Amino acid sequence: MSLDLDIQYVKGVGPKRAKLFKKLGIDTVKDLIFYFPRDYEDRSEIVKIEDLIVGEKQTFKAYIAGSAREVKTSRVVITKIPVKDGTGAVELVWYNQPYMKNNFKIGEEYIISGKLQFKYGQLVVENPVLEKSEEDLNLNTGRIVPVYGLTEGLTQNILRKVIFNALSEYLDEVEEFFEEEFLREKGLMNLKEALLNIHFPKDEEKLARAKYRLKYQELFLLQLALFLVKKSVKEKRGIRFRKVDIKPFVSNLPFKLTSAQMKVLKEIILDMASDKVMNRLIQGDVGSGKTIVAAFAMYIAAKNGYQVAMMAPTEILAKQHYKTLEEIFKGTDIRIGLLSGSLSPSGRKEVLKKIEKGEYDVVVGTHALIEEDVSFKNLGLCITDEQHRFGVRQRALLAQKGENPDVLVMTATPIPRTLALILYGDLDISIIDQLPPGRKRVKTYVIPSSMRKKAYEFAIKEVKKGRQVYVVCPLIEESDKIKAASAEIVYREIYKDAFKEARVGLLHGKMSDSDKERIMEAFVRGEIDILVSTTVIEVGVNVPNATVMIVENAERFGLAQLHQLRGRVGRSEFQSYCILINYSPSETAKKRLEVLARTSDGFKIAEEDLTIRGPGEFLGEKQHGLPEFKIANLFEDIDILKRVQKDVESLLEEDPKLERHPKLRQVLISEFYDRVKDIILN
Ligand code: ADP
Ligand code: MG
Repeated sequence: MSLDLDIQYVKGVGPKRAKLFKKLGIDTVKDLIFYFPRDYEDRSEIVKIEDLIVGEKQTFKAYIAGSAREVKTSRVVITKIPVKDGTGAVELVWYNQPYMKNNFKIGEEYIISGKLQFKYGQLVVENPVLEKSEEDLNLNTGRIVPVYGLTEGLTQNILRKVIFNALSEYLDEVEEFFEEEFLREKGLMNLKEALLNIHFPKDEEKLARAKYRLKYQELFLLQLALFLVKKSVKEKRGIRFRKVDIKPFVSNLPFKLTSAQMKVLKEIILDMASDKVMNRLIQGDVGSGKTIVAAFAMYIAAKNGYQVAMMAPTEILAKQHYKTLEEIFKGTDIRIGLLSGSLSPSGRKEVLKKIEKGEYDVVVGTHALIEEDVSFKNLGLCITDEQHRFGVRQRALLAQKGENPDVLVMTATPIPRTLALILYGDLDISIIDQLPPGRKRVKTYVIPSSMRKKAYEFAIKEVKKGRQVYVVCPLIEESDKIKAASAEIVYREIYKDAFKEARVGLLHGKMSDSDKERIMEAFVRGEIDILVSTTVIEVGVNVPNATVMIVENAERFGLAQLHQLRGRVGRSEFQSYCILINYSPSETAKKRLEVLARTSDGFKIAEEDLTIRGPGEFLGEKQHGLPEFKIANLFEDIDILKRVQKDVESLLEEDPKLERHPKLRQVLISEFYDRVKDIILN
C-alpha cells in the first residue's frame, strides 16, 4: 500500500533527505502524514503596508521595488531590498546572507511575514519569511502556518512542502474507520479533512475541529485497546489457588488489619481463588499498609506451591521489603530471596540457581528480576511495588516469567478514576482508603523563606532529642536562571554554619547508585542526622526515627509529590513535622501549599491539585508508564478523555467484539497488534 511507501519516494525527499526524516522517526508516507505540527503561526491576515504596526509580527503582500543594496562593515554584511505595495514601502534586511541579493527580480510579488521595526532611519523587516505570491499555493505565508519539530538539515519550508506533497498525492488513501453515523453522533470531523486541516488549516475553527478529531481518535483507540485487553485477561485461565490455613501467618503479626486492608485483601483472595487471571492494582496512600496485604497474597501463593516475585523500583526499597518480609514471615516456612543489582557475579549465580530450582518461595528484587537469565520454577504471583515508577512493559515482562501468573501492582500515587482508566485501564482497582490506627498526623506548616532559619533551629532541636531530619530541595546544582535552593548549596550551608552539632549527609540523583545506597544506609542506621537530598528519597523509604521533613522551595513541587515526601515522616510513635518553605510571593502558591497543612488525605490532595493546576502536577514530571501520544495530552485533554471513556464503554456494551465495526477493529489490530492480538484475532 502506498501509505507504507518509503519516505524517500515522496516528491521533494529523495534518499539523502530521507535519512534526515528518519531521524525524526518518519519512515513512511503514513508517518509523514501523521507527523503533526507542534505549533502554528497565524499569518493569515494580510495587512497593507500603511497599516503595519511597529513591533508586531504581521504578514503583507508587496512587490520588489528596486535592486538590493549591500552594506559591509568589518563584522557583518547587511543586505537590504526595498519592497512596496502601493500604500507604503519597507526594506527587507538580512545579515551575513549576501546571496540573498541575487534571489529577487524587480516587480515580483511576495507574501512576507515578520516583525516590523524602525531601524537605520526607516521601516524594516529583519530576516523575513517570504514566499512568491501564487494565489492558491502558499504554504509559508498568508495562512495559518504549521510549525514542525525539526532536525538539522531540515527547515520549516522543506517540511511544509514535503508534507503538502504527501497530502496531495496520498491523502485519498487514508481510510476513515469510524462509521458515518458515529462521526455524526459525536460531532467528529472525518479523518481526511482532519489530516488536511491539522497541517494546513483553512481557519481557526477547522483547526480546532481537526485537533479534536485526532485527539479523540488517539485516546479512543488506546482506551478501547486497554478495555479489550482487560476483558480478555478476565477470560484467560489462570491459577486457581486453594484456600490455605493462614493462622501460622496471622498469629505472627503484631497488629490487626484495618477494615480497608481487609476489604482489599478479600478482593485479592477472591481473585486468587478463581480460575481467572488476577490483574489488580492496589492504590493506597503512603503508610496505608500495602506491604502486609501483599504479604498475605504471597503466603497464599507459596502455600499452594507457587513462587512469588516482588519487584521494587530501587535497591534500597527492595532490600527494605526483603527485611520486612523476613520479619513478617518469621515463624513460617516461607523462604525468601533477594535479587539485587549489587550482587557479585557468583552471588548472583547462586541466587539465580535457587530461583530456578524453586528453593525460594518469594523473590524480592529490582529490575534485575526481569533480566533474561532469570527463570523461575513455577512463578504464580507477580507483585510490582510503586508501579508508577515502572512501565507497562516491565510489568508484562515480569509476568512472562510464569505461565499466566496472577498480577498485583501497588501504588501510593492517588489517581482519579479518569486517569486511572487510561494509565491502568487493563487492571481492576482496589483502594486502601484508611490509615492504621494510632498514627499521629504529621503537623504541617507553610512558612515564608524569611522564617527559614527558625525551621532549621527547630530541626536541630529534634536532632538533639535523638530524631532525624530530611531536607528536600528541588535541584542539585547552582543555576543562575532558577533561584531554587539546590541540595548542594543547602548541604554546604547547613554543613558549615548552623549545624555543627549534627551529622549531615547529601543524597542526589547524579550520585552513583552505590554512593546513594551508602548514604541512605547510613541514614537508616542513624549515623546521619540530617539528610539533604533531592526527591530521590520520595519513594517508599522507611526510617521511623525521622520526624522532620523540611522542603525548600516547596512551591516548585506538585501537591501529590509533597504528600509523598511527607509520607517519609510520621512513621513511628513520635510526633512528626513537615515544614514547607515557600519562596513565592504569590497568594495562589501559598493557598495551594496550605491544602497540605489542612488535609492528609492523598486523594483529596490529588483532586485539589487537579483543580488548581491541572492533572500534570500530581503525576510529576518523572512519572513513567505514561503512554506516549502524538497529539493528545493527558494534562490538557481530560474532558476529551472523559467523553472518550463513556463512548468506548457504550460501544463495547453494544458490540463487544466489534463485529459491527470492522474497520475500527482492523485499525485497532494494526495499531495495537501486540496488545490486542489474542483477543480479536481469534
Ligand atoms: P505503604 O502502604 O506506604 O507501603 P507500609 O506497608 O510500608 O505502607 O506500612 C507502613 C507501616 O504501617 C509499616 O510499618 C507497617 O508495619 C504498618 N502497618 C501496616 N498495617 C498496619 C495495621 N493494620 N496496623 C498497624 N500498623 C500497620
Ligand atoms: Mg510501600
